[in-house]
Order: sequence, then structure tokens, then C-alpha cells
Amino acid sequence: MTERFTLPPLPFDERALAPAISALTIGYHYGKHHKAYVDKTNELLDAAPDLKDLALDRLVVAASKDPARKELFNNAAQAWNHDFYWRSLSPKPSGPSGKLAEKIRDAFGDVEACKQALTDVGVKQFGTGWAWLVERDGKLAVEATGDADSPLITGGRPLLTVDVWEHAWYLDYQNRKAEHLAAVEGLLNWSFAEQNLG
Ligand code: MN
Repeated sequence: MTERFTLPPLPFDERALAPAISALTIGYHYGKHHKAYVDKTNELLDAAPDLKDLALDRLVVAASKDPARKELFNNAAQAWNHDFYWRSLSPKPSGPSGKLAEKIRDAFGDVEACKQALTDVGVKQFGTGWAWLVERDGKLAVEATGDADSPLITGGRPLLTVDVWEHAWYLDYQNRKAEHLAAVEGLLNWSFAEQNLG
């Protein structure tokens, strides 16, 4: 098997997001779930030599166009989504500021309304998926995707994401999904979001 992709390092200590997200949850989520998506992507790439030199985001888009490559898409997209998710969180977030703060005001009114909108789409997402803050045609919006899907495949520019799969919170919150998502509002990494603006 070619080791095309490696598990990116967590941008914080796995204990750093407690009590909103416990070290136990991050241990499984990063060390088992995320790692498995990276490993499976590498394994499946052996059968897709035409895609083996693509960066991960390009691989996700390419695989999304071919129904015969659904398994590769699912794993590559989940590898990309999880790396983006960890970087969307911070133990000590600040902001938003600058151009991002302006765009948030234009789209949502204020940052509290933006956070609430992101939580609402996450809570409403039925089953597995992701809640996203995205930029489309220069404007900010929130949207949810199912399973491994992301705005990458529909031409949106992801700014932040929140994992709404049960494995993201079940050990800490059991059936209390909304409570978990409300806690994550306090961890959103606005400087990462600002870096992702077009
Ligand atoms: Mn996950």
C-alpha cells in the first residue's frame, strides 16, 4: 500500500477542548475514526493510479464525479473533513475580526446569530453529516451536508465545519446533540475561518 496521505497532527492537545469535548472523545475520534479514513484512502488509491498524485481536496472532487468511486470518495472526503474540523476548533478562540467580521454582519447581523445559525443547521441535520460556514459568491452562509459530503463538491468555499456524526459527541453527551453543538460554539476558530476567506 502506498502511504500517499498521513494523519495530520492535531492542532491542540487532546485534553485541550474539555469539558466541551473530552480527551476520551478526541482520542477515539482522531486516533481511530480520522486515522481509519486516512488509512482506507491510501488503501483504495492503489486501485486508482490516475488519482494518486492529486492533493486531498482535488481527490475528493475528482472521486465525487464517479459513482464507481463512492468508497474512495467517502474515505477521502472524511479524511479532508476531519482535518478541516480539527482546525475549525480552538481551545482559546478569539474574534472574528476584520473582513470576516464584516461579512458576518452582512450575512447574519452579528456573530451570535452566525453561531446560532450554524448550530441550528447541525441540529436539524438528520443522521450523519456536517454543518458548515461557507462562502459562496463572496457571501457567507451556513449549510449542512450528509455523510461525507462537503461544500467542496458544490463549488462552495468552506470556512468552518462542525462534525454532526454521533461519534463526535456520543461518549460525552449521549442523546444530547443540541447541547454538544451549543458547547462547540465556544470553540470555533475564527482566525482559521478568516484565513479561509477567498
Ligand atoms: Mn467524525
